[in-house]
Amino acid sequence: MREQARILIVEDEPALLEMLRYNLEAAGYGVDAVTDGQEALYRIEEAAPDLVLLDWMLPSLSGLEVCRHIRRRAGTSDLPVIMLTARGEEYDKVRGLDAGADDYIPKPFSPKELNARIRALLRRSRPALGAEALSVGSISMNLVTHTVSRNGRDIHLGPTEFRLLRHFLENPKRVFTRDQLLDAVWGRDVYVEQRTVDVHIRRLRKALNGEGEKDAIRTVRSTGYALEAEED
Ligand code: CA
Repeated sequence: MREQARILIVEDEPALLEMLRYNLEAAGYGVDAVTDGQEALYRIEEAAPDLVLLDWMLPSLSGLEVCRHIRRRAGTSDLPVIMLTARGEEYDKVRGLDAGADDYIPKPFSPKELNARIRALLRRSRPALGAEALSVGSISMNLVTHTVSRNGRDIHLGPTEFRLLRHFLENPKRVFTRDQLLDAVWGRDVYVEQRTVDVHIRRLRKALNGEGEKDAIRTVRSTGYALEAEED
């Protein structure tokens, strides 16, 4: 089993956007798309994708500006960004990388090349995509047998707590807002109250934290939750 990585396309040219969407969906990615820079920032704020494909020349806010915003914001400072651009000059490449882009692809490019760059970047940023087991500190999850243990002790989790923990294990130490957890664990199309997240976090804690063990989940006041990656 392999979790589907989610890619946000930011591209104002309809034909190219559709080509990218078609290509990425065919490659097995979850795809979301917007056509303007400001809209991209709103979308990322709602739920950070696993990777952003960002056109340079965009209405309202340029790709460079969008990239700088992404890097400045604590929750997205390490979000993988690939810049797409019609400008092929070396000078622009430097500016793109200076703004914080992880990679840079001049148009026109082949879908094959783009897919290879995306795979390489995702492998670096989220080694968990494609993994059969996840572990952080004393907590381990086997994705094949769907079992969880902490310090060798079997942990029994409900399906929602399992997905929550999996999301945390794939992103150790990263702080998630309740909204981000709702999108990642329950899905964007489902309406669930924010309080529901607290209920499942409480159950997850109860299951994970044995006597004398540290609380595995950190509450970040007025923000959300993160997995504590330390050894016990
Ligand atoms: Ca453009």
